[in-house]
Order: sequence, then structure tokens, then C-alpha cells
Amino acid sequence: MKRTTGTDRSITRNWRPATQAVRAGTWRSEMGETSEAMFLSSGYSYDDAATPAARFAGDQAGMTYSRLQNPTVAMLEERIAVMEGAEACRTQASGMAAMTAALLCQLSAGDHVVAARAAFGSCRWLVDELLPRFGIEGTTIDSTDNAAWEAAIRPNTKVFFFETPANPTLDIVDLAHVCGLARSHGITTVVDNAFCTPVMQRPMEFGADVIAYSATKLMDGQGRVLAGAVCGTEEFINDKLLPFQRNTGPNLSPFNAWVVLKGLETLELRARRQCDNALKIGRFMEGRVPVIKHPGLASHPRHDMAMRQMTMPGCIFSFVLDGGRQQAHALLDQLQLIDISNNIGDARSLMCHPASTTHHSVGAEKRAEMGVDEGMLRFNVGLEDADDLIEDLDRALAAIGL
Ligand SMILES: *Cc1c(COP(=O)(O)O)cnc(C)c1O
Repeated sequence: MKRTTGTDRSITRNWRPATQAVRAGTWRSEMGETSEAMFLSSGYSYDDAATPAARFAGDQAGMTYSRLQNPTVAMLEERIAVMEGAEACRTQASGMAAMTAALLCQLSAGDHVVAARAAFGSCRWLVDELLPRFGIEGTTIDSTDNAAWEAAIRPNTKVFFFETPANPTLDIVDLAHVCGLARSHGITTVVDNAFCTPVMQRPMEFGADVIAYSATKLMDGQGRVLAGAVCGTEEFINDKLLPFQRNTGPNLSPFNAWVVLKGLETLELRARRQCDNALKIGRFMEGRVPVIKHPGLASHPRHDMAMRQMTMPGCIFSFVLDGGRQQAHALLDQLQLIDISNNIGDARSLMCHPASTTHHSVGAEKRAEMGVDEGMLRFNVGLEDADDLIEDLDRALAAIGL
């Protein structure tokens, strides 16, 4: 394998995001291929017995087994690390595998976690159901309340865990404040950056320690594969994450890594277009529906903060209808162009009713506490022409009397 300029951090860290997304992390084989090679190999062979001995001892760089490292996966990990401004990155089979690894690799019985109460349903399940089984207690708070973070800290608090913007309430966490508070108490922040990706928000610039991803979302961006990633310091990745990952095996397949590499090439372009569409459609929806939650609209309670933290306004928004679940389902059933689907970040426009899908399993009581209203719909705005999407919504809203 030959190095390209993409493998030199002293060069790649100065590139702008669109360049990093196409070039960073690229190695070339002897064939000189332009597109990254896909290494579908679980194992590796050696010229002599001393070579694997040196590699297993850590004295020589090189491949040994694809649960430990794989060239295609390594290219993706380097690209994500550079884009995120992190020292290191490792990928996992899904976003939830990434969240689970990021938490379990550093927590032990007797530790305490403070987490945002408004979160992706499975992220809440980790804090509410999984961690307590291993003696790790969690406190969930209103993540938009800066004082609540401080009040929840205990002597054994090890981790702050949150999303910003949150799925599906679009709550914005004050990154600089919350990450600064954590640092001053020796607490590690784990930020789920799935709604943004590094082309829209780089939480490490605000003091975040660990960034965990669903790369299924905007990074693949075309609804093809599940993927996850965890970014952090070399120390965190090597000493905490890698021992956990290498021995438990939530690894990303080389094929899926390759698909995400192809997705990253167009990430910045797609994100711009999808955000432009989302703002245009958000403005159309304001006044047409009772409540709309989009960080890019002045009506969002933390609009100014969101625009300081994010470099683009986001392509996902939620809105609430007065008629509850029945009216929300009725609107979905009127859509012709926009799909009823619970994925996000996709090039296709997708709408879902979180209370009956992504947040079904958290239960009615927690949904009410999180602000996931029965009449809420979450809209992933895709790459289609915004005017076609507006016409679909206009017609569907009129059909249910709005
Ligand atoms: C989708 C999502 C996840 C889970 O990712 P998967 O790739 O589906 O496992 C976690 N957090 C947030 C905010 C998400 O939107």
C-alpha cells in the first residue's frame, strides 16, 4: 500500500471539510486505483513466522485479523477522525454499537452517568435499562437547562451523554457550557453527533471529549448500510475503546466501510442542499402548523446558540399537529412524494411519527417528559426539488383540513 497526501495529518488537517471528505485517509495499492480498494478479507498471511509475532507484540505495524484492523475500514476511520478534528476514530457495525461501545468501554459498576432525557429511543434504553444491570446508575435531565447538568453531578459521575440537536425534539445543548462543566469535574462528555456530522458541527471545538456516530444517517446518506463510529483522543481510543472492541467484536464490515467512504465524498454537497431545502420548507410550514422545531428558524428557542455551534442549520425538523396521533397519521397517509419512513439523513425525504415508531418503546410517560408529543412528526428533508416537496405537503395538509 502506498501513502497519498490524504494519509499525512499535517496536510489533511488544514484542508477544508469538502476536501477532507473526498481525500483524507486514502491509501493506494500497487494498482494505483483512484477509488479506495475494498479489502473483503477476514485474515492476512505473513512471509515468515517472525512477522505475526512482531505484529501481535505491537512492535510492527500491519494487519493481523479484521476484528483488529482492516485496510478499507482504516481508511474510513482516518477520514472521519480528520473531519471531526479528533486524534483517532474506530468504526462499529451500527450507531447503537458505537454508543454502546463508547459507554461500556469506560464505565464500571458504581459509576454514574448524566444523560439528556430527550434522546433517540435506543440511547435512552442504554441509560435506563442496560447500564443499571451492570451497576451503573443514570440521571436523565432537561439537557437545555444548564443548571440541571451541574445539579446532577455526583462524586462518582463519570460521563455526560447527549445529542444536539436531539432526536426528535431538536433540543439544542449548550456545548461550550456543558463540555466546560464536565472538564472542570473530570467528567468525560460523549456527544452523539448523528444529526449533524462534522460538516455541520464539530463538538470537539467546544470541548467535547468523545464523539459517537450513527454513520447510517447523513454519512452514508443514501439509505444503504448501517454503520457507527467513535472519535476521541489516541489515549481514549487505544486504552479504553480498543480493548473493548477487539474483544467483543462490534466491528464494521469492510463492504459497509467502503459504502460509507463513497457516501462521504458527497456529504458536504448533500448536507448543503438538504439544509437549504429544510429551511425553505420550514418557512412554508411556519404558520401552517401550530408548532415547528427547526434550529435554523428564528422561532427555535435556542436559534442563536444553534447558529453559533452549527455551520449549517440541519436537514431534519419536527412539527406538532393539534389533533394528536390520529391527525399525524392522517397527514402521513396523504403524502404522495415523501415516504413514510423512520430513517434520517437519507437523500430521500422521509417522514415519521416518533411516538408510534422510533420512540414507541420508551413508553407514553417518558415520551411526555421528553417532549415527544402524540401529534409530532419528524421530517428528514432530502435532495429532491424543494418546490415538489412543498407541493406534496401543501396538498396533504389541505386534505386533512389544515
Ligand atoms: C439513528 C440514531 C442512532 C442509532 O444509529 P443506528 O445506526 O441506527 O444504530 C443513534 N443516535 C441517533 C441520534 C440517531 O438518530
